[in-house]
Amino acid sequence: MRFKTVRDVAEWRLCAGCGACAYACRDGKVSLKDVFDDGIRPFVADDDCRDCADCLQVCPGIGLSRPSPGGANDTFEKWGPVLSVWEGYAVDEEVRFRGSSGGAVTALALYCMEGLKFGGVLHAGAGDTPLSNKTHYSVTRTELLSRAGSRYSPASPCDSLGLIESAKTKSLFIGKPCDVAALQKAAGIRPALKEKVGASIAIFCAGTPSTKGTAELIKGLGAESTDAREIRYKGRGWPGVFSARVKGAPLEVSYREAWSFLQRYRPYRCHLCPDGTGEFADISCGDPWHREEGGAGLSIVVARTWRGQEIVEGAIRAGYLKLSRSDGEALEAAQRNLLEKKSALWGRLLAFRLFFLPSPAFNGFLLRRLWRTLGTKEKLRAVLGTARRIARRGYLRRKSFISA
Ligand SMILES: Cc1cc2nc3c(=O)[nH]c(=O)nc-3n(C[C@H](O)[C@H](O)[C@H](O)COP(=O)(O)OP(=O)(O)OC[C@H]3O[C@@H](n4cnc5c(N)ncnc54)[C@H](O)[C@@H]3O)c2cc1C
Ligand code: SF4
Ligand code: SF4
Repeated sequence: MRFKTVRDVAEWRLCAGCGACAYACRDGKVSLKDVFDDGIRPFVADDDCRDCADCLQVCPGIGLSRPSPGGANDTFEKWGPVLSVWEGYAVDEEVRFRGSSGGAVTALALYCMEGLKFGGVLHAGAGDTPLSNKTHYSVTRTELLSRAGSRYSPASPCDSLGLIESAKTKSLFIGKPCDVAALQKAAGIRPALKEKVGASIAIFCAGTPSTKGTAELIKGLGAESTDAREIRYKGRGWPGVFSARVKGAPLEVSYREAWSFLQRYRPYRCHLCPDGTGEFADISCGDPWHREEGGAGLSIVVARTWRGQEIVEGAIRAGYLKLSRSDGEALEAAQRNLLEKKSALWGRLLAFRLFFLPSPAFNGFLLRRLWRTLGTKEKLRAVLGTARRIARRGYLRRKSFISA
């Protein structure tokens, strides 16, 4: 299948919702909309689309590529480039409390702004309506902190890469793994953007539930989602709580209960994702699920590039982060689900090919080697489960979105 524009990508359900195509289109022909039961998707006004394919060049939905070192080791196979693994938390108690895990991302961002003099931080935060998100360019501590915490709903931080490109000094980018991969692709075709990216941080990610997920969760808790204010998905302890204010009254449920509900609303592209831990970022941060629950927030931090390593060590020295060295085994104990998903991916993609369906191309991920580590039962489950889903959910046909 030859994709002509990102409309094809979205209609074949391969869009990850990063927003990079809207940034890449020089003619402003790509707009983004939050499709309630799916995610943020591109709408292309293709009357006089120039067929330049810039939108496709930056798109992580249709595939990801990177060189893999000859004789790659076990850690690379499972987690991509890893220079060091750490565990700990933000030293500032407010940052730790507001953070999704242990506030490591926000602490690193503060260090980049205050210690390394980055001009600002491009990242996602709450939007103008209770359930929506939008991209923000934070330049103060207050702004950064107001956007700490995970938003388990669609967010497209790459839609505003132009803000990094036009900033006077370097900026930090924060996003999900697919957002960071899109940033790298975009920097590859826009030197002016590449020059201004000071560093990138990815949050670990098992998939983004649609907006419908949050609406149904709140409904299930006996309230109307349109009445909800200040929705927080996680944080305020380890592993924290989902909370909202509905008509002035607090509504709260444990993070675990919220996620077990929300995960059903993840779009299909998230089940075909090879990178749950931000392999294209300088630094990536996630949850240490192997640690006992209860108490204050905790983070796991992975430095993936020398730039990332320098930033992590600088943030520790400057007193922003309290981290101790950990290793690949801890990463494996903490993120079993993400590793299982990556190991099953080769079989899931095979099922797509058996149905002659377009599927993303992933180069350099050594997926076949991970697939070989699975038992026969797990392999059958991956292929047959995907085949069943393709048939049941009507993936054999394009999903047509309303045009712009
Ligand atoms: C959809 C989703 C799925 C996740 N899945 C996993 C998982 O499988 N395993 C795991 O360990 N952790 C997962 N997380 C949690 C994630 O790992 C934590 O956000 C991360 O550990 C950072 O915590 P922190 O306290 O250091 O970050 P904080 O200091 O709280 O900062 C979080 C940063 O993430 C940005 N952000 C929040 N939501 C989004 C979003 N939807 N899109 C882009 N950027 C966003 C914010 O702008 C903020 O800068 C997920 C988070 C999300 C949003
Ligand atoms: S994955 Fe990103 S770049 Fe690709 S179509 Fe979706 S929003 Fe556009
Ligand atoms: S699972 Fe992968 S594709 Fe889906 S939102 Fe997370 S990083 Fe993006």
